[in-house]
Amino acid sequence: MRIVVAVKYVPDIHAERGFADGRVVRSAEEGTLNELDENALEAALRIIESLPEDERAVSEIVAVTIAGPEADTAVRKAYQLGVDRGVRVSDDALAGSDYFGTARALAAAVRRLAEEAPVDLVITGMAALDGLGSVVPALLAAELGLGQLTLAARLEVADGEARITRELDGVTEELVAPLPAVVSVTDHANSPRFPNFKLIMAARSKTVEEWTLADLGLDPATVGAAGARTHVLAATPRPPRPDVELVVDKGEGGRALAEYLIRNELV
Ligand SMILES: Cc1cc2nc3c(=O)[nH]c(=O)nc-3n(C[C@H](O)[C@H](O)[C@H](O)COP(=O)(O)OP(=O)(O)OC[C@H]3O[C@@H](n4cnc5c(N)ncnc54)[C@H](O)[C@@H]3O)c2cc1C
Repeated sequence: MRIVVAVKYVPDIHAERGFADGRVVRSAEEGTLNELDENALEAALRIIESLPEDERAVSEIVAVTIAGPEADTAVRKAYQLGVDRGVRVSDDALAGSDYFGTARALAAAVRRLAEEAPVDLVITGMAALDGLGSVVPALLAAELGLGQLTLAARLEVADGEARITRELDGVTEELVAPLPAVVSVTDHANSPRFPNFKLIMAARSKTVEEWTLADLGLDPATVGAAGARTHVLAATPRPPRPDVELVVDKGEGGRALAEYLIRNELV
């Protein structure tokens, strides 16, 4: 079984965030693996761990990211969690990629991996916490011409099929697709493990393979700013929240709170 997991390097949600020219500012010090991609990695690890020993021995999980060298932080975290191989697709021409460009580059990386040996499954997170587009998985499936099972709250792989459970408003859907397929998992799919000491140490000596667009046979005009079908017109920081009014309860807290709500026309 060979599984590709798409992992994104995103600015740390606890750090100061910024935009420049409509793009998220990414710096090596403050970025991290997209938290929701830990669920994708965990799903892949559990599938491999559930296999019989002989199948497990020939299985591989490959983490792939589309980003600059700073994204090695995210791939290293994937190594610490237990993936076998990490690939970063970097190219100056990828700057300014929109959802389509990102999906196209990811698809090309999956196709290249499939040239080495069949890829059975591609797993992604439900969203990247910076872009929050939640569209890359569907676009990736379309680019690869594979079935897409999105927003899986549960994922099982057996008998050449991927089966997922999807929680909708008041309905639980069960979906199935033949392998290979693209699956995005939600944060309800599992609880990601913590890296253990052995894997943390082993990750230090692992290398992140770097591929360019030329390695993938991708025309630079079809990705990056040149190939983008959407353009960010403006990215305006939200105004800071108005000062918080602290109500100290010395026996009259309820009254003070009611007065606050009335004064601000909140009731
Ligand atoms: C017009 C436009 C211009 C942009 N320009 C830039 C730019 O110049 N520089 C820049 O850094 N960003 C840029 N972005 C943002 C970047 O293209 C998006 O982050 C990207 O399209 C993915 O969208 P998302 O983050 O909403 O992913 P989602 O669809 O929310 O991601 C879902 C899942 O897809 C996978 N995934 C998503 N992105 C990647 C990735 N890069 N590598 C591996 N897996 C991934 C992950 O598993 C993730 O959990 C631009 C976006 C737009 C629309």
